Amino acid sequence: MEKFQNMTKTAKGEDRASVRLNNLETLWFNTGTLCNLECKNCYIESSPTNDRLSYLTVDDVKSYLKEINEQDLKTKFIGLTGGEPFINPSIIGIIEEVLKADLEILILTNANRVLKRHRDALTKLKDQFGDKLHIRVSLDHFTPQLHDKERGAGAFERTMNELQWLYQNKFNLSIASRSLIDETQQDSVKGHSDALKKFDIDIELDQKLVIFPEMQSGKEVPEITTACWNILDKSPDDQMCATERMIVKRKGEKKPVIMPCTLLAYDDQFVLGNTLSDSKKDVFLNHKFCAEFCVLGGASCSSTK
Ligand code: SF4
Ligand code: SF4
Repeated sequence: MEKFQNMTKTAKGEDRASVRLNNLETLWFNTGTLCNLECKNCYIESSPTNDRLSYLTVDDVKSYLKEINEQDLKTKFIGLTGGEPFINPSIIGIIEEVLKADLEILILTNANRVLKRHRDALTKLKDQFGDKLHIRVSLDHFTPQLHDKERGAGAFERTMNELQWLYQNKFNLSIASRSLIDETQQDSVKGHSDALKKFDIDIELDQKLVIFPEMQSGKEVPEITTACWNILDKSPDDQMCATERMIVKRKGEKKPVIMPCTLLAYDDQFVLGNTLSDSKKDVFLNHKFCAEFCVLGGASCSSTK
């Protein structure tokens, strides 16, 4: 048998590891997979034509906020991801609903052209809700050369100008970036610090900069069994699916469904149902990303610093 075929057993017939939802701390909404960019390393394969996940509407989001409230869930954060969330025509209404529900919101954006259209509306929301509105800008690298190689000519300059606007207008902002395999953490932080200085952006990097290691999908990975937790000295409680879920609306479907995490947007076998109550099931780690990015790689999307 090939790896990652059977939900509960590995190819060798061992018991596959699973993760229990402890507490739904962060609920992500994938606002749609369309993006104005098409990065080669985009794990969700977003592009100007990939509409496998449709735009979420304000009503879609409201029904989950209602469920959080009715069930008195301990959810603290709502995350918006895509694609590029600011392409979704309902984005401002969605953000407003979340903030009105007294939840903190983290929006991931490439800050390349599209965010700019919403400057006035975002300013009003920031004035009303302050730091509860948190915008995280993604960079591919701190050098214009490497960033533009992935995101197109002039992309670095555009994104840094938008970052500067957010900083000057006192938004709660952070940066998610990437370090290369041959770069030390120190070099990467220094590189970001120098790049930000050139744009007069002075933020606390230890609080506001998240650097993810370069992840290269495609390598051969082992399956994670129940014995692996002890062998690797890892805990199921530290995996994203122990504290998170993601809402997606698959193309052609009327209702959104719930996935265990932001990494698995398309795999039907991970659909956990339509409601948050449905989604409290244990998640069996039957995907190579579970091994590659999480248990062996330490991925995290939830950091809201
Ligand atoms: S900007 Fe982000 S969502 Fe868009 S293609 Fe690049 S990595 Fe994917
Ligand atoms: S990819 Fe990671 S967070 Fe997602 S289900 Fe697998 S282990 Fe959990």
